[in-house]
Amino acid sequence: MGLLQGVSYIVYENSNIYEDRLFVDMKSDCRKCFGLCCVALYFSASEGFPGDKEAGKPCSNLKKDFRCSVHKDLQEKGHKGCTSYECFGAGQKVAQTTFKGQDWQKDIESAQQMFNAFSVMRQLHEMLWYLTEILLIKIDSNIRNKVEHLINETEELTYLNANDLLELDIDSHRVKVNSLLKKVSEHVCVKYYEDKRKTFKGKRTISRRLDLIGKDLKKTDLRGENLAGALLIAADLRGNNLAGTNLIGADLRNVDIRGANLTESIFITQSQINSAKGDSNTSLPIRIKRPRDWS
Ligand code: SF4
Repeated sequence: MGLLQGVSYIVYENSNIYEDRLFVDMKSDCRKCFGLCCVALYFSASEGFPGDKEAGKPCSNLKKDFRCSVHKDLQEKGHKGCTSYECFGAGQKVAQTTFKGQDWQKDIESAQQMFNAFSVMRQLHEMLWYLTEILLIKIDSNIRNKVEHLINETEELTYLNANDLLELDIDSHRVKVNSLLKKVSEHVCVKYYEDKRKTFKGKRTISRRLDLIGKDLKKTDLRGENLAGALLIAADLRGNNLAGTNLIGADLRNVDIRGANLTESIFITQSQINSAKGDSNTSLPIRIKRPRDWS
């Protein structure tokens, strides 16, 4: 990692109750779901899925018992999109809570409603993931209170019945969440950013760009950068230190993060990591599992 090492500004809380939420409530549990992502979503072969499929139609590999017939061979068969997808626990919430265990095969009338509810629930659970992640960090109590308040509000929405869920103004809620996430990102990341500006006098940083596809960023100091929504597809970040880097919504497909340090990156998801190319020398945040195919 060489020149890109630096001071650590993110301090994690010890034995944080919020870790459980991230590890259990906001992780997909396919055993409690009805294969909702394999039915409800549209996908295409160009995005690493098994083929083109219309939203609302079951994937041809989905069995009657909602298991995937090629589950063990998804990687080998080139279904990377399936292995990197994460519903943040929305599937089991819709199946077991919103629809109380009534699956779409038995209740064909409400199938479409269930698929639509899944789409709303996934957005709510994704927001909960990001908000909860903030509470793992020691942070200003004023911000912490606001985050806790918004978590409670968002969580309440996840218990709405299907009709109310579908009428929810999810966009307005997302604006509220995004604005708070942005504030937190500025609060946390600015310290890394200032630190590196002092060290390198502003050199070796990047301008705020979204299109970084295929770029060689091995020697670019990305600490404290806001890479929200950036396209980093197949970029080379080997050995980079991404401390305090905001990666919310960044497209990390095939980005090379072998040997990189992401332990203090913020707003990163399992799905992003599953789509990237790492190895045993890649350091990940505690909330993220190392993909099985990384050597
Ligand atoms: S291949 Fe398997 S995991 Fe992927 S969409 Fe089809 S059933 Fe689901």
